[in-house]
Amino acid sequence: MRQGAYQTDYHVHTGRCGHAGGEMREYVLAALARGLAEIAFTDHIPLYFLPGEDPDPTIAMTRAELPDYVEEVRVLEEEFAGRIDVLLGLEADYAEGHEAALEEILRVHDWDVVLGSVHWVAGGWIDAPGSAKRHGTEGSENLWREYYRLLAKAARSGLFDVLTHFDLPKKFGHRMPADVTDAEDAAVAAARDAGVAIEVSSAGLRKAVGEEYPAPPLLRKLVGAGVPIVFSSDAHAPAEVAWGREKIEAAAHAAGAGEHLSFRKRKRRRHPF
Ligand SMILES: [Zn+2]
Ligand SMILES: [Zn+2]
Repeated sequence: MRQGAYQTDYHVHTGRCGHAGGEMREYVLAALARGLAEIAFTDHIPLYFLPGEDPDPTIAMTRAELPDYVEEVRVLEEEFAGRIDVLLGLEADYAEGHEAALEEILRVHDWDVVLGSVHWVAGGWIDAPGSAKRHGTEGSENLWREYYRLLAKAARSGLFDVLTHFDLPKKFGHRMPADVTDAEDAAVAAARDAGVAIEVSSAGLRKAVGEEYPAPPLLRKLVGAGVPIVFSSDAHAPAEVAWGREKIEAAAHAAGAGEHLSFRKRKRRRHPF
C-alpha cells in the first residue's frame, strides 16, 4: 500500500452470517494494523425474500439479529473513534419483485453504505457451495444472462450505493460465454445511468476463478463508462481484511481509475489513489 494514501475496506462480514469467523472487534483491529482509515461492516441482510424467519442460517443473519448487528457496529464506531472510522453497512440481496420489502428494511437504520448483490438467480444461489453444477444442468449462458438482467435491475432500483462482485457467476471458474456480452454491456450501462458505484474486490482471487471482481476487461469498460469504484475484500475472517489490496489497486489503476469513493450516511466522498 502506498504511504499516506486513504485506504478503506468496504465489504466485510461477521460471524452472524453463519459462514464467517472471528469477533467484530478483531476485524477492526486487523484494519487498524493494516493502516486503513475506514472499515465498513457489510454483513448479509436477513433473507427477507425467502419464506420463514431463518431460511438458511449458513447464509445470513435472522431478522431478529439485525438490531444487535447495528448496535455492535455503533459500539465499535465509538470505541475506535479517532483511530479508524467504523461504518455501518449492509450487503443487501437484490430480489426481483421484493423491492418494497427491501426498502422497508433499509428504512429502519441509518446506514453509511448499502451494497447491492445478486446472489439469487433463477430460483437458487449462484455462488453457494454446490452451485457450480448449475452451470452444467441449467446452462452457463442462461445463468450469466439472467444474472446480468437482474444486476441491471438492481442498479436501476436506486436501492443501492455500490454493486458488488459484478461478474460473480465466474466464481467457480465458469467464464462468461462471449454471446452474453450484450447482457454485460446492458448491466454496465444500467450502472452508469443509475450513478451507482461498483466494488473492485479481491475475493475472486481467493476463489477457484483466481481473478478479482470484476475481470480486467470488464473493469476497464466500467471505469471507461464513468462508474466510480470502492475497494473491498469481502472478508469472512479478520485475516482477510484489506487482503489483496495492492493487487486490486493495481487492477483499478490499469483500468484507468484514479480515485475511489467512501460513504457517510450514504453520501459519497472521492479520494485519489
Ligand atoms: Zn456477496
Ligand atoms: Zn459479501
